[in-house]
Amino acid sequence: MLLVAIMAAVIWFGGGMVGAPRQIRLTLLGLLYLAVLGIQITFPKTHPMAVNTGGSAALWLLLGGAVVIFLAYRALIRALRRRAAGSIPAPDDAKPVGPFSDTELNRYARHIVLREVGGAGQKALKNARVLVIGAGGLGAPVLQYLAAAGVGTIGVIDDDLVENANLQRQVIHHDGAIGMPKVFSAQQAMQAQNPFVTVRPYHRRLTADIADELVAEYDLVIDGCDNFETRYLVNAACVRAGVPLISGALSQWEGQLSVFDPARGAPCYQCIFDKPPAPHLAPSCAEAGVIGPLPGVVGSMMAVEAIKLITGAGAPARGQMVIYDALFGENRSIAVQRRAACPTCGTSAEN
Ligand SMILES: [Zn+2]
Repeated sequence: MLLVAIMAAVIWFGGGMVGAPRQIRLTLLGLLYLAVLGIQITFPKTHPMAVNTGGSAALWLLLGGAVVIFLAYRALIRALRRRAAGSIPAPDDAKPVGPFSDTELNRYARHIVLREVGGAGQKALKNARVLVIGAGGLGAPVLQYLAAAGVGTIGVIDDDLVENANLQRQVIHHDGAIGMPKVFSAQQAMQAQNPFVTVRPYHRRLTADIADELVAEYDLVIDGCDNFETRYLVNAACVRAGVPLISGALSQWEGQLSVFDPARGAPCYQCIFDKPPAPHLAPSCAEAGVIGPLPGVVGSMMAVEAIKLITGAGAPARGQMVIYDALFGENRSIAVQRRAACPTCGTSAEN
């Protein structure tokens, strides 16, 4: 028995000292256990090999059973905690992520020391797949902060090219990128800032024929687009997929955002905005103007909500419409509710 304990200690602590990954050390411990169990079953009880490794198969089976029960209990507690925190469960087909490199650990150290994020939260960020609709005013800060924060896979869809008149506020793009597709300009900036994340650019408009397929590849969608047709399309696809949607909008000096998530009790976009407003009531940024830093404020708040949803930190703005009035420096939060008659997520909707 002592011999086995010494061998296990050498594998675990010795392996740790030479930098062997945890997964490999666990596998070696499993193999050691199976070898000992094999010896106990095949050799007579009085054989020196059997005596030196415990002398009883029953003892080892009991120990193995206790470890299995402990691991199952721990997995159950973790799943319950995740559910209680309302975080997004990791998708089944998510690629297992290896340990962080020293550079990544150093880069994300200010996250890891936060009690609400920690190493587990940073790993959840690395595992997360987030789709951003639009690489314009709101998309720019969202994309920059998601990349900097270490969100592992970031998709971005937009069919626009960078224009001179975008650069007063869309700080992810620069003068030399004028005329370039926004998604490629954004990708360059994100990967220059953080080479540890994967960026998937889609240089096209989001249309009904691809919406469901695209949304299904992501755990979370962030909508910062500039037109109502796309907003309703994204909302419906997210409701069908059961994927949370962080949606934001801007006008002149005021911005708003909310987390739409009917799968977890919050309203969807259409619960709150039943129909698109008449065009003269919702002029575009080009027509009405917008103060440059406003998308930065609201987009950064959307990135914060994304990190909260992914890591399970705090209380995301589900069922809350957060409104920021830049002209008077005021923040308000209005409670919003699901609507049974909502054509997208209501009781009569075909979901
Ligand atoms: Zn709804």
